[in-house]
Amino acid sequence: MNAEATTVRTTCPYCGVGCGVLATRQPYGSVTVKGDPEHPANFGRLCSKGSALAETLSLDDRLLYPEINGTRASWDDALDLVAARFSAAIAEHGPDSVAFYVSGQILTEDYYVANKLMKGFIGSANIDTNSRLCMASSVAGHRRAFGSDTVPGTYEDLEQADLVVLTGSNLAWCHPVLFQRLEAAKAANPALRIVTIDPRRTATCALADLHLGLAPDTDVALFNGLLSYVSENGYLDEAYISRHTSGFGEALGAAGACDISRIADETGLSRQDIARFYDLAARTEKMVTVYSQGVNQSVVGTDKVNAILNVHLATGRIGRAGMGPFSVTGQPNAMGGREVGGLANMLAAHMALENPDHRSLVQSFWQSPVIAERAGLKAVEMFRAVREGKIKALWIMATNPVDSLPDADGVAEALKLCPFVVVSDVTCAADTLEFAHVALPGAAWGEKDGTVTNSERRISRQRRFLDLPGEARPDWWALSEVARRMGHREAFAYDGPAGIFREHAELSAAGNNGTRDFDIGAMADIDEEAFEELAPFQWPARSGEALGESRFFARGGFYTSDRKARFVAVTPIAPRKRERKYPLVLNTGRIRDQWHTMTRTGKTARLTSHIAEPFAEIHPEDALALGISDASLVEVRSPYGAVTVRAQISGRGRKGTVFVPMHWTDQFASRGRVDAVVAPATDPHSGQPGSKFTPVSLKAF
Ligand code: SF4
Repeated sequence: MNAEATTVRTTCPYCGVGCGVLATRQPYGSVTVKGDPEHPANFGRLCSKGSALAETLSLDDRLLYPEINGTRASWDDALDLVAARFSAAIAEHGPDSVAFYVSGQILTEDYYVANKLMKGFIGSANIDTNSRLCMASSVAGHRRAFGSDTVPGTYEDLEQADLVVLTGSNLAWCHPVLFQRLEAAKAANPALRIVTIDPRRTATCALADLHLGLAPDTDVALFNGLLSYVSENGYLDEAYISRHTSGFGEALGAAGACDISRIADETGLSRQDIARFYDLAARTEKMVTVYSQGVNQSVVGTDKVNAILNVHLATGRIGRAGMGPFSVTGQPNAMGGREVGGLANMLAAHMALENPDHRSLVQSFWQSPVIAERAGLKAVEMFRAVREGKIKALWIMATNPVDSLPDADGVAEALKLCPFVVVSDVTCAADTLEFAHVALPGAAWGEKDGTVTNSERRISRQRRFLDLPGEARPDWWALSEVARRMGHREAFAYDGPAGIFREHAELSAAGNNGTRDFDIGAMADIDEEAFEELAPFQWPARSGEALGESRFFARGGFYTSDRKARFVAVTPIAPRKRERKYPLVLNTGRIRDQWHTMTRTGKTARLTSHIAEPFAEIHPEDALALGISDASLVEVRSPYGAVTVRAQISGRGRKGTVFVPMHWTDQFASRGRVDAVVAPATDPHSGQPGSKFTPVSLKAF
């Protein structure tokens, strides 16, 4: 037993802020955590979830051994079976009959190996991730405008701005340390103005000078109006538009004249508030627009993103200190999966699946027998295909789709019908395990080793400070073992995360010549020791260039064929007709102290005491009309399913809307699983579900 405390620098496993954590293993095994004062994301801060990490490390509920049909098995038997069943499905039904559904919880090295196996050696692009539910609309919007999936700015921009617009972002609860940085910036600079745009008056609004409680999914009308306003009032950056962009005329034409009365009708906002916002946004040069799930999780999410990007491009406020659009996303590996192509419509290193030159480059780099030639199934489509019998073998890794995907009951039905399901997880508390033919025990936070990328393109190490319990193994190892058993020995002969990271870095630089944004070629010869010591850094990290914080696009240089950005002409969505039976709109989201389906955060009383049970936040007028009293039980129902939760009558939301948090599963609260109610409608460009707009009914229980 170790008689001395040892401290390891690692990264928090929750949100995309990507805070550095000092984890200290005390003599006799207990662990304490504190914020890493040297990490540039948090400078020593942690939020409630991060500071409670040590309380979540118990082995209660851990999946410790492989299982076949619920019975303990050896790794060899389990891996042989997985390889045999995937190979048989591919031989009989073709490569598109198998799929991987992975997660923003896995490390970049796990993602890299999963993507390589599926796209280069199986020959299908049927690998998607729960990140599809989180940031796919931002990715699609970035690619439409910039030709690449690039976040142009850094966290520092929020501190250097004179105006921060937070749209569809409850930063105080969902990215709390970034919110703490914003609070400190406002305290230091009282002239800093903050505008929140959200149908709900969330905790973030406490810091706001102006709150715009717009009607759900009307953001395009609001930002199109801002584009027209800056154009009509002399705030365009004509030089930037002409030198570095194309399509401005069409985008402005689609936005129409800045008729504030019309915009007020469309958004449900007052004319005074709209005018105040437009005036502030036009006059304040240093403006950052932070956007998150309220923008992305929509059937018009990509158009919302482009409406925001249009405004920043038109005013040249991009890539300069204190200026730019900023997508803040959800999970610890906010961007790492995107970087290795862990989405069904991307390749690797930000290369495009639809580009034959990119396909050939990746295939030759991997020396792979095949390469996927077309986009695979995105998350919601994937489970629809499972239900239709098109997927014969499915591997789910580090995510719990029977609780977290829209139409969650439909997902459970699909898994029941799937001939072969593999689930890799660290916990027995994930409901998806019930459907596994083979369960594989993964390595948890503190046991696994590799890298993650946060929302500002910063790559940090997650380091191991605990021994692997039972027979738990990292996901890259299980994937490599299956690949070898499928006949791909040499290509998957990895002996640790350093070698995988090195290969990923080499691929990022291969054939690049500055034509892609993602490049970490400076790491292409990293050895084990340097990988162990690797300090957080932002990409790009091009070979031969000094590492340092960088922004993109202040002087153009977009990743389109002519290096110009594209304005995208977007038009507001027409008001959606709703059945009389479902007259209200359900909005789902996070609370401060829980994470995903609570398999980790549900372990600590400190976190569960913040909000102890699921609830439906209902407007007082709706509650009165429906005879619902505060704290009574209420049923929220859609055509897909129902939950029964506690009514919380509050004026935080708009009349006609209901908010229910996303975390609870039936294990933690009977009939509290809200994704059983959420409609599986998706954005046509990004495939991201519109989890913030499901027509529902409410009934006193
Ligand atoms: Fe972890 Fe996010 Fe909290 Fe930072 S803000 S400690 S990354 S949950």
